[in-house]
Amino acid sequence: MIVFRESIPLTSPSMPDFDEYIEEIKSLWECRYLTNSGEKHNRLQKELAKYLGVNNIELFTNGHTSLEVAMQAMGLDGEVITTPYTFVSTTEAILRSGLKPVFCDINADDFTINVSEIERHITEKTVAIVAVHVYGNVCDVDAIQKIAEQYHLKVVYDAAHCFGVKYFGEGIGRFGDASCFSFHATKVFNTVEGGAVCFNDEALAQRASIIKNFGICGLNLIGEVGTNAKMNELAAAMGICNLRHIDDEILKRKRVFEFYKNAFQGVDGMRIPVLQEGVTGNYAYYPVIFDQKAFGANRDNVFIKLAEHCIGSRRYFYPATNNIECFSEKFEHGNTPVSDYISNNVLALPIYADLSLDDAEKISNIVLSCRK
Ligand SMILES: *Cc1c(COP(=O)(O)O)cnc(C)c1O
Repeated sequence: MIVFRESIPLTSPSMPDFDEYIEEIKSLWECRYLTNSGEKHNRLQKELAKYLGVNNIELFTNGHTSLEVAMQAMGLDGEVITTPYTFVSTTEAILRSGLKPVFCDINADDFTINVSEIERHITEKTVAIVAVHVYGNVCDVDAIQKIAEQYHLKVVYDAAHCFGVKYFGEGIGRFGDASCFSFHATKVFNTVEGGAVCFNDEALAQRASIIKNFGICGLNLIGEVGTNAKMNELAAAMGICNLRHIDDEILKRKRVFEFYKNAFQGVDGMRIPVLQEGVTGNYAYYPVIFDQKAFGANRDNVFIKLAEHCIGSRRYFYPATNNIECFSEKFEHGNTPVSDYISNNVLALPIYADLSLDDAEKISNIVLSCRK
């Protein structure tokens, strides 16, 4: 007998109704202006600045290039203090910018940079702190700002997980010199592929806008080595549509988040996400840290059990980037036991706006059945 089992993916992108998107892109067939700061791009830029509560925002082809261009716009050269507990993009952007990552460990509870360890990594070559707001948790932005001012360092936040997050009422993109967002299909807000950088300094935003268009800064005039990282009109139109529904989509994620919380709270050996004080969350991810001894199974056992039921889950982030072999010769591993532990024991469970609570219940039952 063939058994058809419904599969549940780890993630599924938020999308507007088909007709809504078609309506939005209709005008493109008349104006035939498809990229290079078109009408859709400019509208999305304005609407995002308002939604995120920021003054300067530049749109990009994706989050990764937005990190690279932000660092280039600042003219960084030397060492940057960063964390290995992130998506590989953060570390790759540092390396591709010709900078040397120096790895600082993370906090065990929110997985962001451990600010009490930053200063010991500062040398005369240090030029910046590149910190990650992991899973929508906010870094200790006040402590980081203080250190940055004391040692004259730039601060770049990888805010790819943090769309719509507020910290004591302030948009997360307002902190540091630059905050880089990803609008990849799997993120809370998407433009299919896309990204943005919020800059506090308008001059940096201006320079980034030149870099993302081949360094062209006037008629027949190239100012520096640029790249091509402009957001096109079809992507921007997707963003305009998705932004109309973003608050609802975040609320729908919240339902799933709270369902899991009720199902898992108090279970021995499962550490579940907790919202930080003062943070308005976006419910982007649902990472669980499994303690094999207390739970009776490790995260790989849970991963396999879910896979047997055609349910996606992901060791996110694993490996930590300072354990990735192909570029391990470009930097020192550093002393990062917390990051090593978390990446060896974390499993992200499915969460997205359209995940039904029936499916969430099925998933939580399977997870709990792994206990010995
Ligand atoms: C998604 C992501 C990126 C890269 O963004 P893209 O839009 O996929 O290029 C960078 N950093 C983190 C933490 C991410 O999750």
